[in-house]
Amino acid sequence: MEDDSEHSSVTDTTYRPVAGVFVFLWLAYNLVYLCEVKEDRNRRRDKLVLDAVIFNTCWALAFWSYLRAHFTQPGYVNERWREFVKEYKIEPVESHSGDRPWNPGKATFSQRSSEVRPERAHYCAICRATVLRMDHHCPLIANCIGFRNHKFFLQTGIYSAIGSLFGLFSMTRELGACIGNDLADNPPPAPWYCNETTIGSYMFLVGGIALGLSLFLTFSLAATHVEFACMNLTTIEAKYCEGPNPYDQKSSIRNLAQIMGALGWDWFLPIMPRRPLGDGFSFACGEEILPTELQDREKRSSTGKSVALLDSPGSEALWYYRYVEAHAADVEAQAHAQAEVVRRPVVGDLVRVVSTENTMKFFVEGIGKTFRVTEDSNDPRDDQPFKVDGSDAWLYRDDLAHAQAEALSESVC
Ligand SMILES: [Zn+2]
Repeated sequence: MEDDSEHSSVTDTTYRPVAGVFVFLWLAYNLVYLCEVKEDRNRRRDKLVLDAVIFNTCWALAFWSYLRAHFTQPGYVNERWREFVKEYKIEPVESHSGDRPWNPGKATFSQRSSEVRPERAHYCAICRATVLRMDHHCPLIANCIGFRNHKFFLQTGIYSAIGSLFGLFSMTRELGACIGNDLADNPPPAPWYCNETTIGSYMFLVGGIALGLSLFLTFSLAATHVEFACMNLTTIEAKYCEGPNPYDQKSSIRNLAQIMGALGWDWFLPIMPRRPLGDGFSFACGEEILPTELQDREKRSSTGKSVALLDSPGSEALWYYRYVEAHAADVEAQAHAQAEVVRRPVVGDLVRVVSTENTMKFFVEGIGKTFRVTEDSNDPRDDQPFKVDGSDAWLYRDDLAHAQAEALSESVC
């Protein structure tokens, strides 16, 4: 995948305190809790090894994910996109900060960055860049969360929550003993790790508190963001109130695949998706059926659905399809539908009266029913009305063009 080198957010060193917490927790759990506290209580060695393996696996995955989320650029608007916009004369939709509608398949003009941005991209004032599929700017990660590092962000939350839960659970007995000892009126002599007299005991107690706080923070973070990811929503889009999410793939796995790549073992490791389903510049809408030439028939997602591999030099072809062709097809379909609506029904047509609010001259009971238009020569008025069968209503020739009557297919004039 093309990398964007014109922006660099990874010079932000505010990630260091969080990285320091990771290192502290590792030291407190392994060197103090496992090697001193548990050893001191003569716990079985195989149990100690099991605790060490589970905690350290979660810790390693969480820390690795964290570093990847911080050091991976979220994806920025690049020169290739700008050239595409210029070459195909993409007309951006004006976008205002207070008004945030869905814009599938449309480029928008950002007033803050004064540039044309792809769908779902937003300008981050902290990074001073337009971020692809921007989710939010995360101070804990010290980076924007966008298309390319969203997977690592989710993994950081999930693995940290699991690691914190396990660490806290395994320390319950010892931490409980310290708390019980503190609360008792006539406590027995407390174990050494409950007395704040040595560096080891401090690290044990502070480590327990830090794991509790980490569990609270990361669990709520992971729960919220995994829920959004399962709906193919960003944090910004979750605030949109207008209509349904056009990017919803109608399944949590398929929605997650938009971020994590096609389902595979790489979902569990903080590495770039092996089979990405997007490049961050254009996105599949729920019902999208790609033209054959844009589908990669060799590689299919786990659902068996053909997927477009955008990680290829030809991805502009897909941009073109989504920003130009599909859009033009929509406009054409809309124009066609509009032409159908204003076509005058003729005798023999089946019409469905959608609304009668726009006409002053007729009223049909039972809105939404289908009627057949018939000639009625007995009408005393001059403007040659059609009768709508099965009702007492009349459709007047002069008003038919304005009436929102949709002609159905059985046209027999
Ligand atoms: Zn940012």
